[in-house]
Amino acid sequence: MERLRLQGKSIGFAPTMGALHEGHLSLFRRSREENDITVASIFVNPMQFGPKEDFKKYPRPMLQDCRLLEKEKVNYLFCPGPADMYSPEFHTSVEVNTLTEGLCGKSRPGHFKGVTTVVAKLFQIVKPHRVYFGSKDYQQAMVIQRMIHDLNFDIDFCLCPTVRESDGLAMSSRNRYLSAEERARAVVISRTLFAFQDAVLAGEKNVGKLKQQALAKLKKISDKIDYLEAVDARSLQPLDRVRLPMTVLAACFVGKTRLIDNVIIHAR
Ligand code: AMP
Repeated sequence: MERLRLQGKSIGFAPTMGALHEGHLSLFRRSREENDITVASIFVNPMQFGPKEDFKKYPRPMLQDCRLLEKEKVNYLFCPGPADMYSPEFHTSVEVNTLTEGLCGKSRPGHFKGVTTVVAKLFQIVKPHRVYFGSKDYQQAMVIQRMIHDLNFDIDFCLCPTVRESDGLAMSSRNRYLSAEERARAVVISRTLFAFQDAVLAGEKNVGKLKQQALAKLKKISDKIDYLEAVDARSLQPLDRVRLPMTVLAACFVGKTRLIDNVIIHAR
């Protein structure tokens, strides 16, 4: 990468955990439009999974992923194993505070510490000029953006829109865990968020009321709701009254699968 940088080539980078879908591919495509070289990484990072989470069973269809990367003309793939990233003497972590306290930070303790540590390492290894993250993982994107700023990484952060299935379900590697019956239920998550957005854009200001309505819908399809929250789009602080830009986020289990989604509501 150093050689490419010295040649004056711009490098775009999108880190992933693989099991690639159109959401990931949209990041690579944007990077290819904006850079000379596009790098992807595939690393299922043990440090960001809790002890009861799906690290072991997380899908790893490597051959299929490589074919997709080739088709998308991604120039380089970095796919280390856990031992390459974490030596037995590894004793460093990177942690972003405040932004990681609520939402997924609350329901998945230690998760963001794992994410920021590995992403900081990947940035050091790949040395990108621009990095591409999806709005699908909105809190993660805000946390990485904060880390880049706070630690003076010389990197431009690019936030890309959430890519959805035709019925609105946010694409996710975890969707492949869903049975047909669960898949049919899962669409209610995005529908609920869009209904929240429509009500806000129609002038509703009472967040408590909107949250109640949304929770009632999610309860019908989810076995466990981690959160349904409306927050300031930048600070991620919860709001009682609508103030735009605002992000409405949900995390809930459909069967054994934990799904997340969000909508970002801007002033019109
Ligand atoms: P993951 O492989 O799930 O860790 O995701 C890697 C990157 O792809 C992250 O920046 C995600 O936000 C992004 N991503 C995942 N799903 C989507 C989606 N449906 N639309 C856009 N970006 C996504």
